Amino acid sequence: MPPITDPLPRPAARDTAAAALPAVTASLARGVSGSVLPDIVVGPPRIGPWVSLSRSGQGPDRGTGTTWGVTTDRNLIGMRNRPIPGSTGRVQAMRILGDPVLHAPCGTVTDFGPDLSRLIEDLFATMYAARGVGLAANQIGVPLRVFVYDCPDDEDVRHLGHVINPRLVAADGVMVRGAEGCLSLPGLEAGTERFDRAVVEGVTREGEPVRVEGTGFFARCLQHECDHLDGTVYADRLTGLRRTRLLRAVRRASWSAEAGPYG
Ligand SMILES: [Zn+2]
Repeated sequence: MPPITDPLPRPAARDTAAAALPAVTASLARGVSGSVLPDIVVGPPRIGPWVSLSRSGQGPDRGTGTTWGVTTDRNLIGMRNRPIPGSTGRVQAMRILGDPVLHAPCGTVTDFGPDLSRLIEDLFATMYAARGVGLAANQIGVPLRVFVYDCPDDEDVRHLGHVINPRLVAADGVMVRGAEGCLSLPGLEAGTERFDRAVVEGVTREGEPVRVEGTGFFARCLQHECDHLDGTVYADRLTGLRRTRLLRAVRRASWSAEAGPYG
């Protein structure tokens, strides 16, 4: 999942326009979450008490005046002493559209040894370096069912974690078409339909069962990352003019020379 879009401050007019759009689009337009290394780990959404964590001083101020909602629940307390995700990882090369590893289903993780922990760390490090909000293992060339995320929902609640062998067990609610991009198609985006709610089940690196539920932009992220592990990119979901426009933009993109055959 992409940085939402560009990591640079946007013209004020676009902020104003984003504010006037539905919540999902506005959230997508804010686009900062992946640019900040996490110093607080957040548990399940919508559990109080709430703490406002201002983003000032943590990255470019886009003038949106938004704050992160952060829960102070037992997960936060339990994980406070853990290292920052990605701090021991190495930034890996991002695989680009057309690379075969992006277009084939990933395999189930069966080895929960140190290599898996290193993979998760590398995923976080690479995601943060690219200012993304989610990253699947095959995007760094590893064909295993693993993804990481550090992503806000439409209420600005931050969700951070990883899932091994995820299964999208529910995707429902209204269908929302929102701007969506991908770190494997850098700089591009297209209106893509996603359900407004998604539930993913899998396990942690310790093999413990985990269930992640998301709404709004975070639900989009969960669906996007599960798609990756099934060998699908958002471009595969587009039809008609939207697909034509995106593929034209792919051909014109600076990275098109390194992209493999697609479309
Ligand atoms: Zn992606």
